Amino acid sequence: MRILVTNDDGIAAPGIKVLERIARGLSKDVWVVAPETQQSASSHSLTLHRPLRLRRISGRRYAVNGTPTDCVFLAFNKILADGLPDLVLSGVNDGPNVGEDVTYSGTIAAAMEATLFGAPAVAFSQAYGDGRKHHWATAEQWAGRLLPKLIERGWPKRVLINVNFPDLPAADVRGVKVVRQGLHALDDTLEERIDPRGRPYYWIGAQLPAAGSGQRGTDMSALDEGYVSVTPLHMDLTHRRTLTWLREVIE
Ligand code: MN
Repeated sequence: MRILVTNDDGIAAPGIKVLERIARGLSKDVWVVAPETQQSASSHSLTLHRPLRLRRISGRRYAVNGTPTDCVFLAFNKILADGLPDLVLSGVNDGPNVGEDVTYSGTIAAAMEATLFGAPAVAFSQAYGDGRKHHWATAEQWAGRLLPKLIERGWPKRVLINVNFPDLPAADVRGVKVVRQGLHALDDTLEERIDPRGRPYYWIGAQLPAAGSGQRGTDMSALDEGYVSVTPLHMDLTHRRTLTWLREVIE
C-alpha cells in the first residue's frame, strides 16, 4: 500500500512526524509531500499566480513552497504520477478541526483534494488545552487502532474521514464516537494593536478553540467528553432542504 502523508502546519511540524510513524506502521511505501511553511487556515487554496518549487529533502520526502492543496496536486500529478497513493493521510494538525474549522482548515483541504483524485483520505487533528501541551502520543496510539479498521471496511469515494483526538493522555481517552460536524458559537477574537509607526494592525483568532457550546452528538461535544471524534465529510455543500423549498418558490 502506497501512502501519501501531508499537512498544513509545514514539513517541520511535530504532528507530521507523528503521522509519518502512524503511516509506517501500515506500510513501508510512505511518501511525504508537505508545505515548506505554516499553512494553517489556507483552506482549499491552490497557487496559480507564482511558480511552485519542489524541494527533495530525502528519498521519499518533499517540501513545496505552497499550500496543502498544492502538495497533494503535485504529489498526484508529478511525484507519484507513475504510482498513485492508495491512501492519503493529512495532519496530525496542531489543534482541533471541528465545527466550521473544517472550512478554514488546510489539513481538511488536503484530504479533500485527495478525494478529488479518487483516493481515500483521512485528516487527523490533535486538540490541546490551556497549557498548550500536546498529547501527540494520544494521536499516535488511537490512529494506530482506528486506521486498520477504516482501511479494512473502506468508505465511499469522494468522502474524507475527519478524525480529532481529545486533549487527554492516551489512556484517559474514553473511546471513539462517530459524530456529525458541529458549529462553534461565534466568538472569534480580533485584536487591534498599534505598530511602531502609529498605524493599527490586527490579529485574528488568538483565542483557544471554543468548547462544544452544548451541542450534542457533534465532533465538538465528542472531544469535550473525552472521545476521539470521527466525522465523514464531503465537498457537496448543497443544503438539500432549502434546495427543495427554493424550487417551489422560484422555479
Ligand atoms: Mn494547522
